[in-house]
Amino acid sequence: MVILRMVKLEDNLGRRFEKLRISLLNSCNFSCVYCVAENFQNISADTLRLSTADRPLTPDEFIRLIEAVHRLTGLKSIRLTGGEPLLYSDLFPLINHIQKIGISDIRLTTNAYYLKEKASKLFDAGIKSINISVDAIDQDIFNSISRHPNTARVFSGIEAAVKIGMDVKLNAVIMRGKNDSQIIPLLEYATELGVRIRFLELMKMGHLYHSENGLFFSEKEILTIIQKKYPIESLPRGHAETANYWRASNGGIFGIIANESTPFCHDCNRLRMDSNGFFYGCLSNAHGEKLSEYIDDDFLLTEKLRGLLRLKQPVKFHGSELSMRNIGG
Ligand code: SAM
Ligand code: SF4
Repeated sequence: MVILRMVKLEDNLGRRFEKLRISLLNSCNFSCVYCVAENFQNISADTLRLSTADRPLTPDEFIRLIEAVHRLTGLKSIRLTGGEPLLYSDLFPLINHIQKIGISDIRLTTNAYYLKEKASKLFDAGIKSINISVDAIDQDIFNSISRHPNTARVFSGIEAAVKIGMDVKLNAVIMRGKNDSQIIPLLEYATELGVRIRFLELMKMGHLYHSENGLFFSEKEILTIIQKKYPIESLPRGHAETANYWRASNGGIFGIIANESTPFCHDCNRLRMDSNGFFYGCLSNAHGEKLSEYIDDDFLLTEKLRGLLRLKQPVKFHGSELSMRNIGG
């Protein structure tokens, strides 16, 4: 258990770092079209701006960094993501170490391809809450978005997690002409399963940063589609929630993460770390800060964290050249 030496780390909008998202690795068994560029191999080094000295952290290095940041900020929760976190070989020892630091709220975001066989062990290790990406019910559409031939396994993963008692949320990135036809089937699937689904507006990250964003499908359009079939009522938004929620008349609760249409920067409490140990204060700023050399110096570490806090946008998300796969969505 880490003894907290919390310092006042707050910006003029009252934002603090309370949640840390960690991209455990930047590799993945899927190549979702919105996350991975078609010519990924060619552009990755530039996009990630890695120097040859940068390399994935060891589990020990992850822990020492988490510990140092937690000591000063009193983190409330950690989300393990990637890349695909279920491919990270030291996942279980890492979860165990994070708990020993004194952070018990550990969550995971996954494509669920390997979830069926790992759900029970994850639950026992302390992962009670999980976000699962599922962009279509129709297999052909899902396969073509994920560029993977066998997305059927995702559904058995989702159902295993529900059965074991995890708090499951589904995430679907909606793209014009690709899976906007899947909004109702996804909502109905989630409702039947008794879990919440969040529809995400496409974010201009990584290879999409300089694009026209012709695939963008807005919150308003998503709501229009749902309302044609089910009347909806709006639910109150919780502090620092990324999604706004509604209840549909079929009983389903759905959210929309609308970075473009309904920005939520004003109370963002997230800090991110990538698999090479770079910390990011904001998704809309590609500047990463290596904190490893400051972990024994509370003054300098506080100054660095303050600098990262200053990078948060005041109002609106603009995207950045970093891919979500690298920075950890
Ligand atoms: N592999 C895991 C997964 O897919 O759930 C975890 C990492 S993934 C980068 C985390 C989340 O980021 C996913 O829900 C994914 O849909 C989302 N994401 C990735 N690129 C995105 C983009 N350009 N716009 C919106 N969401 C994106
Ligand atoms: Fe992999 Fe997740 Fe990115 Fe899809 S969104 S390529 S599953 S990291």
